[in-house]
Amino acid sequence: MLPQQTTRDDLMHNGGGTQPADILHRVFGFSEFRGRQAEIIDTIHGGSDAFVLMPTGGGKSLCYQIPALTRRGVAVVVSPLIALMNDQVGALKALGVRAEALHSGLDHDKRMQIESAVRAGRIDLVYIAPERLMNERVLTLIAESSIALFAIDEAHCVSQWGHDFRPEYRRLAELADRFPSVPRVALTATADPATREEIVERLRLANAPIYLHSFDRPNITYRVNERGNARSQLLAFIRDEHPAQAGIVYCLSRKKSEDTAEWLAGQGVDALAYHAGLAPETRHANQQRFLREAGVVICATIAFGMGIDKPDVRFVAHLDLPASIEAYYQETGRAGRDGRSADAWMVFGLNDVVQRRRMIEQGDASEARKQVERHKLDAMLAYCEQATCRRVALLAYFGETLEYACGNCDTCLFPPDSVDATREARMLLSAVYRTGQRFGFGVIIDHLRGTARDDPRHAQIKQASTFGVGSHLSTRRWRAVARYLTAHGYLISDPERGGGLRLAGDSRALLRGEHRVKIVLDRERQKSPRRRADNPPIEIEDEPLWEALRARRRALADKDDVPAYVVCSDATLAHIAHRRPTNIGELIEVPGIGDHKASRYGRAILDVVTNRA
Ligand code: ADP
Ligand code: ZN
Repeated sequence: MLPQQTTRDDLMHNGGGTQPADILHRVFGFSEFRGRQAEIIDTIHGGSDAFVLMPTGGGKSLCYQIPALTRRGVAVVVSPLIALMNDQVGALKALGVRAEALHSGLDHDKRMQIESAVRAGRIDLVYIAPERLMNERVLTLIAESSIALFAIDEAHCVSQWGHDFRPEYRRLAELADRFPSVPRVALTATADPATREEIVERLRLANAPIYLHSFDRPNITYRVNERGNARSQLLAFIRDEHPAQAGIVYCLSRKKSEDTAEWLAGQGVDALAYHAGLAPETRHANQQRFLREAGVVICATIAFGMGIDKPDVRFVAHLDLPASIEAYYQETGRAGRDGRSADAWMVFGLNDVVQRRRMIEQGDASEARKQVERHKLDAMLAYCEQATCRRVALLAYFGETLEYACGNCDTCLFPPDSVDATREARMLLSAVYRTGQRFGFGVIIDHLRGTARDDPRHAQIKQASTFGVGSHLSTRRWRAVARYLTAHGYLISDPERGGGLRLAGDSRALLRGEHRVKIVLDRERQKSPRRRADNPPIEIEDEPLWEALRARRRALADKDDVPAYVVCSDATLAHIAHRRPTNIGELIEVPGIGDHKASRYGRAILDVVTNRA
């Protein structure tokens, strides 16, 4: 009989050993380490500091959770959000690991109880927010306890150029002085070189080995579509490629996230909204439904994200342009954490460029900060306009070289046709110039196409020599030219003057014919070629069993009040449906089933298999 609570002591007494590989297998139910996990774990287990950079979903948590179990004492995990802590603690408890979180949401008794467990070494991991950790009382508690390690999660919060700056993180540097013999490991998924350096400096990790995992997420297909009717595009994408699957739709505003959710729901998609302005109960309920059920689409602002560790998110869609590549990568990184194929899908159009630029210029950030934001936006725009492999471009941004085109992004799968539009770009710039740099795109494009409108503004500029010179292109194609010019900074839409366009950047050089312009033709209506591959490889004859297993998983999850994937992942269920284990020994061989899960859910799962076999 397997123990109900598999703890470090049980493992030792049952002859399981405390080798990292045993723990990986018996507690976490995985057969192999991923990437450099084994090396990192050895380093920390041996008592050294470490700095771990891995993309979201890369498997950072195990890097400190396993040493937390192999080393003597309690591991202290610094984490910025209560939600994040609770998720992790919930998942660990489901594995039978003794973990707790110390945070402001606890009542006095519970806090005392956890503190005394820390002091007595009765737990293996304690999660805590940085400000709480650095408070004198807690530091004393730490000093009086046996500490296995400090893990500083989301370490980029220490960097002010990062996107989640948390001043409280700065004080964590003191841990180095106060507890010089306790290994410290910092972990992050944000790795542009500037942020990286700042983390090392601020957290005093100069002597720590850096484990830079590739940022590539090979199972994510990157796609950028030209914006048309964005909602219909989104609906078609969901219906055709991800029916009844979990996804996140990012929107720029709260209102848009609500409107989109409502509209999708009206179209039969199980969609919910999430943003910081919703009543806390609604927000929480929506998040819970998304986490716990298999096929909910959440329409959210960027408030939704940090700490959402749902492995089976099959797509992340952007209805608005993200502010930077870091943000885009972080957001899209929430797709496909289970390693199965997933889509990062976005619509992008001229208005996005104009809107984002306006947000920067009208914001009240300092000029230095605006300069940083402009730079980040330019990189994001260049990515959208990319005619070659998107993955190559993304990784290059993070300082990584990918030698070959990836074969799994839209530009690889459907090489876009690009055309030389230098002549048209010059026409457009001339038209803006000759009409006095006061009109927006709509007027300018009509003017170029010679479309006379019943509008005094059109009449005013009819005399300009650029009138009608561009009748050979459609409005849509003109918008592509305009998008290129704005994206590359040749044109600026001036919010001070109602969005009137003016020449900027290197526009003179372009007009003189020193620059060339190539625009990418419409990438509309492209579908991912592997349509159904997202479903696990279930054979027809296994389907009834698969459905029965899913139903049982749902019931087990409800009973334990945890999300379904905490019981086990789709991939694990697919393996069970395929292998049809008949006893606990066989069940334990299934990837994703460790001792604790086998003892907790094994019987219930085996029952289903036996009844259906
Ligand atoms: P991160 O914190 O880097 O975003 P997580 O630690 O949450 O990533 O891991 C992402 C997913 O990968 C989780 O579902 C985790 O259980 C799984 N995972 C991590 N390491 C392994 C491994 N060695 N084998 C199989 N799955 C793993
Ligand atoms: Zn590619």
